[in-house]
Amino acid sequence: MAVEPAALALRGGTLVTMDALRTLAVADILVDRDGRIVALTDPTQAAPAERSIDVAGQLVVPGLIQSHVHLCQTLFRGLAENERLLGWLRDRIWPLEAAHDAASLRASARLGIAELLLGGTTAVLDMGTVHCTDALFSAADETGIRYTGGKALMDAGDGVPAGLLEPTAVALRDNDRLADTWHEASGGRLRYAYAPRFVLTTTLDLLRSIGARARANNLLVHTHASEQREETDIVRQRYGVPNIRLLANLGLAETNACFAHCVWPEPEEFDVLASGGATVVHCPSCNMKLGSGAAPIADYLERGVNVAIGADGAASNNRLDAWEELRLAGLLSRFRDGPPGVAAIELLEMATIGGARALGLDADIGSIEVGKYADLAVIDPRRSHLTGPDDVYTRLIYSARAGDVRLVMVGGRVLVEEGRLIAFSEVEAIADAKTQRAALTKRAGLTD
Ligand SMILES: [Zn+2]
Repeated sequence: MAVEPAALALRGGTLVTMDALRTLAVADILVDRDGRIVALTDPTQAAPAERSIDVAGQLVVPGLIQSHVHLCQTLFRGLAENERLLGWLRDRIWPLEAAHDAASLRASARLGIAELLLGGTTAVLDMGTVHCTDALFSAADETGIRYTGGKALMDAGDGVPAGLLEPTAVALRDNDRLADTWHEASGGRLRYAYAPRFVLTTTLDLLRSIGARARANNLLVHTHASEQREETDIVRQRYGVPNIRLLANLGLAETNACFAHCVWPEPEEFDVLASGGATVVHCPSCNMKLGSGAAPIADYLERGVNVAIGADGAASNNRLDAWEELRLAGLLSRFRDGPPGVAAIELLEMATIGGARALGLDADIGSIEVGKYADLAVIDPRRSHLTGPDDVYTRLIYSARAGDVRLVMVGGRVLVEEGRLIAFSEVEAIADAKTQRAALTKRAGLTD
């Protein structure tokens, strides 16, 4: 039987597969027309392919997955620098989000996606703002990134501007329309997630309704939880139970939930997370920048809680660089608990197979395996800062940086080549962002 040539071959790279055996191997990756990996073959066989890309001597890793970002905040980079969480939201972030329109959201998303792709992030879980969520999905659709997102649900809260506050029924109606429109669109590359912002800006009715929808429709829930002490104190005062426990009581801590931060769990909440199957999304840069604290990541892992990673938004980071988050996660773990801290291989899991599990996509992405999508990043290790005798995981976590990424593909489509974005124009994205940011800050009544 004649073997049909693969659509694409990545030849001769060292694969950091992150498969169940954590296999490291030099192999060719063959990709079919649907963007899935059809074979991992011996490079000396030179299996036929319509297009071949030589990556000999380079490291090929699964495309990184960031399980908590806010693409709507990329335009706010540098506009909210010196506050703690609740003031930061009330004084800067919410007024800016309220001033967004479809054009500024699109610009914000494209600027963020450019940075994400260039740094090897191929999939994100994004929390939108309240309005114009279609603009985020359209931007994700055009750029080629693998995107799960949803509008921020806000039907209560102190200091929430009128432009963001929605009656519960209105919020749910828009939410349901968006889910119908975008979930599993573009061949499944776009997916919808329910995104109640956090307990302090949602009614219990809304949270309950979202829990019911998540179970009925098997969709992801994405929210913030226990990020700062001030927040957890208010939740406990108001409802008489700790934050994560409250979410669990409302049916939101079951499988397919991603809780960003979880810096301040009560002792009993470790078991709530471990037994419910929710993922903790660690955002170390944001936690340090807003002075939130150091999440007990080693403890979560020890108890079997799935942990993923995210840069959060450019307003609280100010980068969207998964490598930076991984390195800081390792350093912060050691700073908090002393060496050895969370192992490098476990850290890489958070941005690969752990992130895929968080998104409910571990059958499709998160490792380099036959049958999964070719969501890949290629790193050139022939750089001075990547030279050393250490193991490959340590080198990736502690030495690699976004600028080392040479090639990125999502579903077999090459989006970054030779370190340059080819999916769309980075120069145009930057120019558009500049124009839209000026208009946005004017609308928000803030100086740029
Ligand atoms: Zn966030």
